[in-house]
Amino acid sequence: MESKKVCVPLLSREQIAAAVGRLAAELNRDYRRKHPLVIGILKGCYVFMADLTRQLEMPVEIDFARLSSYGPGTETSGKVRLISSPRIDIRGRDVIVLEDIIDTGLTVKCFLKYLQRRQPASVKVCALADKPARRRVAVNIDYLGFIVPDRFLVGYGLDCDEKYRNLPDICALEDSV
Ligand code: 5GP
Repeated sequence: MESKKVCVPLLSREQIAAAVGRLAAELNRDYRRKHPLVIGILKGCYVFMADLTRQLEMPVEIDFARLSSYGPGTETSGKVRLISSPRIDIRGRDVIVLEDIIDTGLTVKCFLKYLQRRQPASVKVCALADKPARRRVAVNIDYLGFIVPDRFLVGYGLDCDEKYRNLPDICALEDSV
């Protein structure tokens, strides 16, 4: 029988807003005279991306990619597929990849490989959260909101079987005792 799950608060909306504000300030400083292309990895990044990009002060363009490694539930399948690629040509562009959580690192590594083949001027990674305990491949995160523990997180865009994305806080999904 499937066990009942409970949401245990981990990061409040205030803590998230402060981290997003700090990341935006760092990007505003580093890209002040540039015109970056921000590519969000769907679907988990959608809330983070909306909050972050509205605080960017330079001209930006927005695009999306969709990759999938998770099957149903909370375990990664380990195989990454590009389901939908960005539409804007990235050749010669300063690209900022937005990711919700970097976990094993497989998704972002696969996407960086895809981008590098298309000759961007630069590529940086901006992640809301890093879960280093589960890393399987090395990933350089240029802009980071939080280091998080090895728990399955939901809320602020993060789902479990497409539920919980709308929670304003980030919670750990735990088995109820
Ligand atoms: P990675 O390829 O680094 O293992 O995983 C990247 C993707 O897995 C993230 O973009 C995210 O969608 C998903 N993921 C990793 N950890 C979590 C988590 O704790 N909660 C949720 N909802 N998704 C996660």
